[in-house]
Amino acid sequence: MSGILGIYNANDAAKLMFYGLHTLQHRGQEGSGMITSDSQTMYGYKNHGMVQRSFNEATLLQLKGTMAIGHVYHPTKERRVLQNIQPFLFHHSLGDFAVCHHGDIVNAQAIRHYLEKRGSIFQSDSDSELLAHLINTHRQKKTLDSIKEALNYIEGSFAFLYMTKDELYIMRDRFGLATLSIGSLGDGYVVSSETCAFESIGAKYLRDVSPGEIIVLSKNGLQSITHASHTHQAINAMEFIYYSRPDSNIEGINVHQVRKKTGIILAQEAPSPADIVVGVPDSSISAAYGYAEASGLPYEMGLIKNRYVGQAFATSNQRQSNVKLKLSPVRSVIAGKRIALIDDSIIRGTTAKNIVKIMRDAGAKEIHVRIASPEIISPQLYGLDTYHNDDLISLRLNKEKLCQEIAADSLEFLSVDGLKRAVGECGLYVGCFNREYPTHIYESEVA
Ligand code: AMP
Repeated sequence: MSGILGIYNANDAAKLMFYGLHTLQHRGQEGSGMITSDSQTMYGYKNHGMVQRSFNEATLLQLKGTMAIGHVYHPTKERRVLQNIQPFLFHHSLGDFAVCHHGDIVNAQAIRHYLEKRGSIFQSDSDSELLAHLINTHRQKKTLDSIKEALNYIEGSFAFLYMTKDELYIMRDRFGLATLSIGSLGDGYVVSSETCAFESIGAKYLRDVSPGEIIVLSKNGLQSITHASHTHQAINAMEFIYYSRPDSNIEGINVHQVRKKTGIILAQEAPSPADIVVGVPDSSISAAYGYAEASGLPYEMGLIKNRYVGQAFATSNQRQSNVKLKLSPVRSVIAGKRIALIDDSIIRGTTAKNIVKIMRDAGAKEIHVRIASPEIISPQLYGLDTYHNDDLISLRLNKEKLCQEIAADSLEFLSVDGLKRAVGECGLYVGCFNREYPTHIYESEVA
């Protein structure tokens, strides 16, 4: 889980980066960092924690220049240490450069071994560092040629930013698994994991970076090249379902509208004998609105989120107490009612089980759980907070048993077809729902 942001040719790039990263905060709260350039020197700072606490006025003043790349960090398999917080700055006789990355390189282990055999020594566990070393190992006269050569080795989802002191290279994987959009800002450009960051810094959305595209921003303007011959669009469906902010657009499709449509289709596929509809805040609210609208039931605020608890990306034990900390029932809304409870997904089942208990304790008469995505039956390989076979409750229990396990009165999921219809024209990766992956699958990623 992470978000990246790049700024090219804008005054006070560090300040803009600060506001932009703040908007991407939901994609990673464990750390954040930025590297800027004034076309002579690069300046960098990173820290643990949320953007607002990581940076202050004094730090931002030191980060000079009109170019910047930045990152909000959520660790998946890496250690929670400062070395793993991006971007990374490298010094080289041919010129300093910085990289940051969002996504998941599925052949990272093999690349690491290959590079270690050739003499590389790594300072972090991060996949981003691999790209820097690959580029360096295949160093050619032109940076662009080195980047193209390095990308040949990489398989998986990625949105990479590579910054020299006066150029910015933007790369997206050949399936577009990792989201990445570009906008304009005055005479300059902004590139972001999510379009919501454009709004916060006054940038104008231009387009999504294409699958397999490299964009070079330099004094010659914007240049677009492809790094892969076989490309097709397979955007990670979880971006629509959970990761992205509702005000973001992916390929011009608004995330809130998609979630609302999943709710509408879910109501058609799986109606429930309920008095009211309650959504689990925040990611399920849009779907719950859709479900209420389509079923003609009133939407009610039956659960309140405590905003001052960090996001519950956690082990299942921590998750259990996190749910209680994060969500409170509104008793006067819930007591004596039959409730259609809408959540966006079930992974380990911990959240659903806890919320059903919270609502029963608050006096709910019946609880009909409706999930606005299909059953997760296979690992989520590319993206945020990846999970594996052992984590997935839908692999161990069929729908009826799972319903008993979470102590609901009924349980239904959206169909894969329903999800695709909700998203519409855009090509989707839905491997965790149907086991179809666009890249090669390595055992180590699944176990
Ligand atoms: P679980 O308790 O393991 O079943 O997780 C389900 C809850 O986690 C749902 O309420 C989702 O909103 C949320 N969720 C969905 N995808 C992710 C993810 N990749 N990382 C963390 N939480 C997630």
